[in-house]
This record gives sequence, C-alpha cells and structure tokens, in this order.
Amino acid sequence: MGEFELIRRHFQRPDRALPPQVLLGVGDDCALLQPTPGHTLAISSDMLVEGRHFFADVAPHTLGHKAMAVNLSDLAAMGAKPLGFTLALALPHADEQWLTGFAQGLFALADAHACPLVGGDTTRGPLNLCITVFGELRPGEALRRSAARPGDDLYVSGQPGEARLALEWLMGAPWACSQLGNHLPAALRSRLECPLPRLALGQALVGVAHAALDLSDGLAGDLGHILSASGVGAHIDIAALPRSPALTALPEARWRDCVLCGGDDYELLFTAPVGARGAVTTAAQRSQTPVHRIGRITAEPGLFTRDAQGRTEPLQAQGFDHFKR
Ligand code: ADP
Ligand code: MG
Repeated sequence: MGEFELIRRHFQRPDRALPPQVLLGVGDDCALLQPTPGHTLAISSDMLVEGRHFFADVAPHTLGHKAMAVNLSDLAAMGAKPLGFTLALALPHADEQWLTGFAQGLFALADAHACPLVGGDTTRGPLNLCITVFGELRPGEALRRSAARPGDDLYVSGQPGEARLALEWLMGAPWACSQLGNHLPAALRSRLECPLPRLALGQALVGVAHAALDLSDGLAGDLGHILSASGVGAHIDIAALPRSPALTALPEARWRDCVLCGGDDYELLFTAPVGARGAVTTAAQRSQTPVHRIGRITAEPGLFTRDAQGRTEPLQAQGFDHFKR
C-alpha cells in the first residue's frame, strides 16, 4: 500500500457530507474553510509522541480517540464550535490493522462532534501524530485565560485526579497498585485513555464564564496560567473539591496530589462572576456536565488552599513541563 492508497483507504471519506463552512476537504493542496459570517476561526494543534504521551502498546483505537479528544478539548476551553481538523501522521510502516483501528477511534469522536477531517500529511517515521483543529466563535465571546476578575468564583468540571491514578497504576507505582490491586477498573482506564472533551459545556459557558482553560497538566499548574494571564490570585477550598469515589480510599496527601497536580484530566477550569451562579448551573444542566465551585479569584496574586477551618496555605502551582522533568 502506497502513501496515496493509504490516505484514500483510511482518511478520505468522499460519501460524508461536509458542514457548509468547509468549502473543500481532503484531496487538493489546501482545504478551504469559510466561517459563519461574524465569526472568527479558533485554531489549535496538539502533538502526540510515542513514549512521551502514550505507551507504545496502546490500542490504536484508543490512540485515535485521545488524539482527537485533546484537540477538541482546546476548542471546548475557548467556547468554540468545531468545524474540521487536519492530521499529520508519521508511521514506521503502513500497518493495515493498526490504521483501521486508529481511524475508527479518531472518526467516532470526530463524527460525534460533526468535525470532519479536511486534510493532512502522511510520512514514514517514528510514530508521531499531530492534529490541528479549526473551530469558530464570535471573537468577543472567546473564553480567554486573561479574563478572570477578582471576586469571580472558580469552577472545575468532572473528577480531576482520576486519570492520574490510572496512569500511576499503568506505570507500576507501588501506591497505585496497592490501592487498586492487579486490576485497573475500566472506568478509570478510560478516564486516562478516552477523555471526553467538554464541548457542550464550553459552548454553554459563552456569555456566562469569564476565563477558562482545559486541564491537561494538573489543576494547580494550569490554574497558574489563568492567574498570570489575568494578573490575579486565587484560593481553592479543599472541602469543595470533588471527591471521586475512585480516589476516596487514598491518604489525604496523595488524594490532594492527584486532584491538584495530576494531568490528563481534560476537564474545564473556569471563572465566572458571583452573579452568574444560576447561569453556570443552567449551563452545567444543559450540557449534562457535573460542575463544582471550588474557590475564588482574588485581587492579591498567589495561589492558596483553604481548609474547612479557614486556614490558608500557599500552593505550589507547578504543572507538568516537558523541559523541566
Ligand atoms: P502535498 O504534497 O500537496 O502536501 P499530499 O500529497 O501530502 O499533498 O496530500 C494529498 C492530499 O491528501 C492533501 O489534500 C492532503 O491534505 C491529504 N492528506 C495527506 N495526508 C493526510 C492524512 N493523514 N489525513 C487526511 N488527509 C491527508
Ligand atoms: Mg503533503
């Protein structure tokens, strides 16, 4: 199978209707996108590298899903609606079975969000994939990291920390293995391998939330990006953090580390004015996404935790950094 045959077989889908904003998809030198009048393009790329972002033996279907999910999650965090994506793929060899599984995982999630593949590049090389997603939104409505205001409530969706426990178990960390025994529950595994991008929530928060981002490198570190972009501080109420049943048996310090510093959550972290509490609840209900109010944005810089007795403590906002560990 040659390069063009590979693209035709696995990535060209001529029978699928394209949204009206996609004037031309796979097959020419460029794809052509035309956002809805009054809208602007939202663009984001994410690369997945074997050995760094995924294990060599991960199921191809799972990898396809995750590559798509982490990209769609960025659109979600901006409040954008997906239009399409490109896929740049380096493969050590053209493995028919692998490609079939990968494409299935990729397209199942892309199709669920009406996000067609509009182009890409395919080359031989160490397994590496890069997706670029294109979405649209009205420019004034984007949920920017710089938009948090003192007094805003701080929210997080879902159950941050679960992906971390799954990752540590897969890496054989003794504490995770003694916690879970020799079986990783399917629900936990899928929190790590098959995150669901919070697109419905992100779009429902447009006009409601101030700042937002998606959690990829740990809650505390990622919150640090909002704080520095907005020139504000925050405190997190430890008692208000969601307590995932999967994590309740962990010692308190380990639990905190999972929730505040675990990566790969792909949940939304956002701020909204106190007057918007009702609107946040409505957005959570409309998008069928659990949302937890976990703290407050402050005018004074710095990130603090606050316990049930009101004692505050500075929190190291160190997220994952590819060049620091
Ligand atoms: P060029 O040489 O002009 O860059 P290519 O030969 O790389 O074009 O690709 C031919 C067509 O196939 C283009 O429309 C390109 O976007 C598309 N394409 C290549 N690889 C992929 C892929 N992995 N997924 C989707 N489309 C792809
Ligand atoms: Mg090319």
